[in-house]
Amino acid sequence: MNFLKRLELQGFKSFAGKMILDFPAKIVGVVGPNGSGKSNIIDALRWALGEREAKHLRGETLDNLIFAGSEKKAATGLARVSLYFDNSERKFPIDAEEIVVSRKIDRSGVSEFLINDAEIKLKDLVPMLARVKLGSRGMTIVGQGQSDIFVRSTPEERREMIEEILGLREFRLKKHQAERRLETSGINLEKVKAMVEELAPHLRLLRRQKSRFEKRSEIAGSLKQTEDEYFGFHYGNVSAALESSDIPVKEIIAAQKKKEAEIKDLEAKIKEIDRQSSSSAKIKELRNNLLKFVDRKFELEKELGRIEAKMEFQRAAPATGVSFEELERNVKDFTLNLEEMLGWDSLERLKKELQNWLERLKRIFNKKAGEPDAELQNRQTVLKKELSEIDDGIKELRAEEEKFAEEQDIFNKEFRTRVEELEAGKNELRDLEHKLQNHFLERQRLELKLGELTREWRSYGREAAELKNLPRTESEIDSAALDKKMVRLRGELAAIGEIDEGLMKEATEAQERYEFLTRESGDLEKAIHDLKNLIKDLDGKIHTSFKSSFKQINEEFNNYFRLMFGGGKAKLKLEVYKPKAEENNAEEAVLEEGELKPEKIAEPEENQELRAGIEIDLSVPRKGIKGIDMLSGGERSLVSLAALFALIAVSSPPFLVLDEIDAALDEENARRFAELIKEFSKKTQFVLVTHNRATMEAADILYGVTMGEDGVSKVLSLKLEG
Ligand code: ATP
Repeated sequence: MNFLKRLELQGFKSFAGKMILDFPAKIVGVVGPNGSGKSNIIDALRWALGEREAKHLRGETLDNLIFAGSEKKAATGLARVSLYFDNSERKFPIDAEEIVVSRKIDRSGVSEFLINDAEIKLKDLVPMLARVKLGSRGMTIVGQGQSDIFVRSTPEERREMIEEILGLREFRLKKHQAERRLETSGINLEKVKAMVEELAPHLRLLRRQKSRFEKRSEIAGSLKQTEDEYFGFHYGNVSAALESSDIPVKEIIAAQKKKEAEIKDLEAKIKEIDRQSSSSAKIKELRNNLLKFVDRKFELEKELGRIEAKMEFQRAAPATGVSFEELERNVKDFTLNLEEMLGWDSLERLKKELQNWLERLKRIFNKKAGEPDAELQNRQTVLKKELSEIDDGIKELRAEEEKFAEEQDIFNKEFRTRVEELEAGKNELRDLEHKLQNHFLERQRLELKLGELTREWRSYGREAAELKNLPRTESEIDSAALDKKMVRLRGELAAIGEIDEGLMKEATEAQERYEFLTRESGDLEKAIHDLKNLIKDLDGKIHTSFKSSFKQINEEFNNYFRLMFGGGKAKLKLEVYKPKAEENNAEEAVLEEGELKPEKIAEPEENQELRAGIEIDLSVPRKGIKGIDMLSGGERSLVSLAALFALIAVSSPPFLVLDEIDAALDEENARRFAELIKEFSKKTQFVLVTHNRATMEAADILYGVTMGEDGVSKVLSLKLEG
């Protein structure tokens, strides 16, 4: 299977439109008149494989890669080249049967690489190509006029060419990358170390401060803990006592009021009882009245007795009319009355009085014998009536007196009960008052204690709110011991003194930075160690591979040289150069500028072999030529070809692009060249631009390139495979 399957060009140099060149064969020849665009095809391949410099693409600027237009054909804005590779053997580390590497550029100079349509950076593409022994320079693509490339190159370039074909470029690239990283890591490590060194004295100072601070924090922490414990206990206890002393004051006051009202009520009742019982005065009066009644009755009964006796007497006495006593009395009355009347002026009054006396006297003297005196009778009636009334009164008074006595007894009992109640009530009231008073006093005492604790707490610079939220120390504490401890810790704190918080922040930051830098330095040292190992491994690979192939290459080189020159001798030699500049550490810069002529060292040492360039030692038959400087142009091409064939004989690349490499060959060598190409095409695919007939004949297919009047290259297939 052919590795390079197809080349697609569009807008690239003289290929204005889209042009497809299939490579279905091992040897593809490209032929055509001068200036038709053959070499542009080679440029396209080189460009697509990553060439960056315009001069290697035969142009002043990269802009020259885009079809510039002609009188008949307008310029294009974009150039694109795609290479189609067979990847059935997975030479590319991509899981695809076909790999398309494309590159495009527009007029603004923006260039882009694609691999199977996905964008890829050149630095990622190059190692992939190196792995399949593809590069844009060296001996895999030999451009027009470069047939003597091997001879004209420097010893180092020769070595690169050999390594590319041996597939070692991949390792070289990796090594180069590792070296660059090693260099950067080294620089960074130095920087980090310098920073660590710079930081160290300051950090030491800060660390001392920090350890003081830590000591201080430790003591402060311990003090805080002790204070918390001490105050947690005392404040907690007092608070708890205050909480538990919370009696229902409102209810007590209400009970007190109620009690007071009850007492008032009782007092009123007692007063009332007392008032009622003080009506014993009334009983006296009652009794007085009774006595009076009794006296009166006694008198009435006495008089009634007398009257009844008189009446009895009158009834029993003979009918003599008027009694002596009656007469005596009436005469007495009349006499007295007459004396009185003598003093009266009013006749009328006299008359009336005399009239009365007349009737009275008539009554006296008209009385029948044996019959009681009417007056007595009347008097008896009156007395009897009064007596009966008095009896009633006495009866009434007695009843009243009895009732009183009874009542008095009840009152006394009630009085006693009430007084007892009053006393009990007063006791209760006193208890309540006592209770309230005690309660308020206790609260006051506890509140004072809390205030005292808070003041003390705050005097130690702590927040009052914190005290309230302190967890309560439940277990018993040794208050005196804690107190002593607090005093001691405060003393220790004072001895350490205040520490600048800002300094601590700085110390922490410096420490963090120090740790970071130390870590960084450790990482860098590890990276350097790993990179050195990687480089050593790569060196080992390169060295072993190179060494094992170099001998073979040398043998083949000698063979092909002898074949082409009809004898003689040729040898490749490893030469180690010790640039003078190495002493002042400017090796690379000086070498790049090419100012120094390398100084030869006799035999390369093993590690130097890796840097050793390739010198060519030869002797041309029949001529005294010993060095390459003395060779003709054609001879230089022959030596280069011998080297190329030696290389591909030892390690065949997947394909080679050779642009008119056979131009300088004589007929004999051109024929040999064609034969060798045929021979090597078993393993390597060739794209050959040629004017040489022998080469054309060797080609499996031929493309003819022409350029019309429109300045656009066209490709015709001239010879089909088979
Ligand atoms: P020879 O056999 O003489 O080496 P060749 O076939 O290799 O010739 P090239 O060098 O490939 O020819 O082609 C050169 C031609 O390509 C010139 O005619 C040149 O004008 C044309 N050309 C180069 N760059 C561009 C471009 N950017 N736009 C248009 N044409 C270009």
